[in-house]
Amino acid sequence: METDQSGKRGHAPTFDAIIIGAGLAGMQQLHLLRGLGLSVRVYEASDDVGGTWNISRYPGLRLDSESHTYAYAFDDEILQEWNWTERFVGQAELSRYFRHVADKLDLRRDIVFDTRVERASFDEARDLWVVDTSDGARAEARFLISCIGALVAAPQMPRIAGIESFAGEAYHTNAWPRDREVSFAGKRVAVIGTGATGVQIVQEVSKTAGHLTVFQRTPNWCAPLGNGPISQAEMDKIKANYKDIFARCKATYAQFDHQIDFRSALEVSEEEREALFEQRYNEPGFSIFLGVFIDCLFDPRANALLSDFAARKIRQRVHDPKTAEVLIPKDHGFGSRRLPLETNYYEAYNRDNVSLIDCRATPIEEITPGGIRTSECEHPFDMIIYATGFDAVVGPLARIDLRGIGGRALKDKWADGPVSWMGMHTNGFPNLLIVGGPNSSATLCNVPRCIEDMVGWTTQLIAHTQTSGHRRFEVTEAAEQGWTDAVLTAAEQTLAGHVDSWFTGVNSNIDGRQKRRFLLYPAGAVAYREELEASAAHTYPQLTFA
Ligand code: NAP
Repeated sequence: METDQSGKRGHAPTFDAIIIGAGLAGMQQLHLLRGLGLSVRVYEASDDVGGTWNISRYPGLRLDSESHTYAYAFDDEILQEWNWTERFVGQAELSRYFRHVADKLDLRRDIVFDTRVERASFDEARDLWVVDTSDGARAEARFLISCIGALVAAPQMPRIAGIESFAGEAYHTNAWPRDREVSFAGKRVAVIGTGATGVQIVQEVSKTAGHLTVFQRTPNWCAPLGNGPISQAEMDKIKANYKDIFARCKATYAQFDHQIDFRSALEVSEEEREALFEQRYNEPGFSIFLGVFIDCLFDPRANALLSDFAARKIRQRVHDPKTAEVLIPKDHGFGSRRLPLETNYYEAYNRDNVSLIDCRATPIEEITPGGIRTSECEHPFDMIIYATGFDAVVGPLARIDLRGIGGRALKDKWADGPVSWMGMHTNGFPNLLIVGGPNSSATLCNVPRCIEDMVGWTTQLIAHTQTSGHRRFEVTEAAEQGWTDAVLTAAEQTLAGHVDSWFTGVNSNIDGRQKRRFLLYPAGAVAYREELEASAAHTYPQLTFA
């Protein structure tokens, strides 16, 4: 169906579908649409497949989903031939995995790398998306599918006076140099930020830095990752049981292979409660969050018991009592922000070459040519690492000039917060499918397990649109409003809904983002999948077709 490969404006090649992003979601989406016999083009801003795991290269980056539960489930041959070397593999191995999948499925021939989608507008007369890319080319497609993810497409620097004046080395974790090794040896290094990224980089940099100073504004609850090698015998067992493992994941709230305990933390004896907390704390992954008493996740009284347990662990692990107190969150309960998993993170603060600055007590006032000045004094540095996160969930789409019916910009439509049905469709933007968009389950999830539900569903919808002889679909305003209201109401019942974090859209570095508005679907991946299935089973009552 492609008419012209030149791509010059005015001679735009036409595809059935254009996918933005060749990460985890975009790769599977491409594979599935090829299966329908569609012509597909993928645009990827970076130089290879793998999304986050190709783009992000900071030292210490590794998975915190169990590696084997993070694998694509759709191709048994790939599952059987791939060996994971660690329970939670690092960036390099994961990147190799995605490159291997791309080779195996011959994905690259439909992907244009180093090319960013800058603008996409819907041509109402022809029911086509017209897509302009950073290489000055244009292409058109019936369907436009965003697979750009919720984070790495929109890194966020902090707003700090004088930031440009710093004369030493400065890196945002998301834009780590790829052409050379960065050495910390003998250097005075600052890390700003203690989210999942900051925690991983602190534990790594602390090993070699001359001196590492961590600037923490809000402490996060963290728990041990429990990484370790996977033996061939273990790997063989995993391979023989992939089907059951995935089935178990698919039955849980966040699609991990951890089983929640349905007893109440408030009703068991103190001994039983402590024993389960201790056991889970010592198990790998999110066990201490997703494998404890169910009410720890939503009842503040039960959650306080878990928070108290985690605080005692920090006091045991950090030798200096004052430092331990600064590291213990006082304004939010355990798991109500994204839980960073760590390997000797707390022990890093016992090293002589590591110190912690509490930015609540002594805020950063300015970055100077020589370092960072807080309200107390100036700290000299050779290097500053910004682990300050992302314009999460809404940022990646906002950075593309997306225009729907009447030329209306998505940015304008969502100026007061994203309105969508399932996070996938928004009224006024026909034939646009957003995989893992705002109000979807994707980020409160073991990502591949949620993504496979979404790309499967978009594929089914596209097939239905074509076989039923239609050229376009569009979600109704009633459906998107109903879904968005339901998400916001459900978020009120959660602990996370009442805490500042990227889950609630709060970002001190962006104007107008100080008020909380929950950006994720909080009722769990199973409920989310059931909504998708019910819609398809009833021939998409939330959509109109033309
Ligand atoms: P983040 O959770 O948003 O953390 C950003 C950190 O920077 C926070 O500690 C924040 O403090 C601090 N910060 C921002 N601006 C600041 C300023 N002006 N002054 C001082 N401190 C400032 O971002 P992230 O750590 O990059 O993580 C984002 C998400 O990426 C994670 O939640 C996770 O989902 C994902 N991730 C996953 C992995 C993995 O799978 N292994 C690894 C890394 C990240 P406040 O909290 O006070 O705002």
